[in-house]
Amino acid sequence: MKIRSIEIYRVCIDLEYPFTIATGSTTSIDSIIIKIVDNKGNVGWGEAAPHPVILGETSKSIIACLDLLAPHLIGKDPRKIESIINLMDIIIQHNTAAKAAIDIAVHDLVSKALGEPLWRLLGGAKNIVETDFTIGIRPKDAVVKEILNSLKEGFKAVKLKVGRNPDEDIEMIKSVRKAVGNEVRLRIDANQGWTRQQAIYALRKIVEYNIEFVEQPLPAFDISGLAALRRAIPIPLMVDESVHQPEDVIRIVKEDAADYINIKLMKSGGIQKASRIAAIAEATGVECMVGSMIETDLGITAAVHFAAATKNVKFGDLDIGFSLRPRDRLIKKGGAKFNEGYVIPPDEPGLGIQDLKEELLQGPIKVYNKKW
Ligand code: MG
Repeated sequence: MKIRSIEIYRVCIDLEYPFTIATGSTTSIDSIIIKIVDNKGNVGWGEAAPHPVILGETSKSIIACLDLLAPHLIGKDPRKIESIINLMDIIIQHNTAAKAAIDIAVHDLVSKALGEPLWRLLGGAKNIVETDFTIGIRPKDAVVKEILNSLKEGFKAVKLKVGRNPDEDIEMIKSVRKAVGNEVRLRIDANQGWTRQQAIYALRKIVEYNIEFVEQPLPAFDISGLAALRRAIPIPLMVDESVHQPEDVIRIVKEDAADYINIKLMKSGGIQKASRIAAIAEATGVECMVGSMIETDLGITAAVHFAAATKNVKFGDLDIGFSLRPRDRLIKKGGAKFNEGYVIPPDEPGLGIQDLKEELLQGPIKVYNKKW
């Protein structure tokens, strides 16, 4: 098997509502989609979803990075995924969303050529993953209404974005708990928004509302602050922005700074390194969630495969691709399915994506088919 060509496309989809978290608002999906074709005509798809604030990548920087990487990958054996990952890391550091697109497309291509669905080839720990419903920062009435609608769709867990103003956050959590009753699992994500004092203040006040876990209450770099908070508050603590790479897990564990880790393929640089994060975490007794950036249903499908494949993934935060209006979904046929609060990876080979909506793909904006 040899990689024959790499094509780069862009996709821009307006969200129905701006998605606001503590660090800012997003109004659209602006992803780079790649297509890798091998010498036998097998096709693999991948997505890079930029997030300037968290990843330091924009759609333009992703295109520039792929421009650097793609010519080196032509002619390489896609089955040698470790060597491809290693090669990319030698050429350029960081740029994990760009690398994730390659990693995902190569995984799709190889598992398709082998005739196996990716989730089963990667380990097949389970064939269904529960996902929560995530709601961004919005006026209280709108949040409560959206959450009640989500429960009708079958969601059993809700993730509430907070981290802007502790008193408003406390009020929001109180109102939501009152509206949904005690059965629904409620998680909160402050996206680094609180200071140490604000986090202690807010978390002490919401202990009574039965919060399943709090995600990234403090800035990503403040590992000792997270550890101190974890000792002071009975609510389990999840890190997200503090862990991008496998080596980040070591520091979290050494400092006893988290109960859970949120893995995202865009932060890790794809499935290969996400698996290492899950493995290190498992060996140290830390369970994981799989989440996503603002991605299309293509990126989400890859994340669902990884989450299903991996034993140490306990939680899913994979609703974004399914909350898109049907006309805005990139996958025309196939891909992961949503059912009553669960996501299900397809049983078809590879990512199980049979067709993408060509009308949503801009490009190809670049085609690589020559060796460096
Ligand atoms: Mg998060």
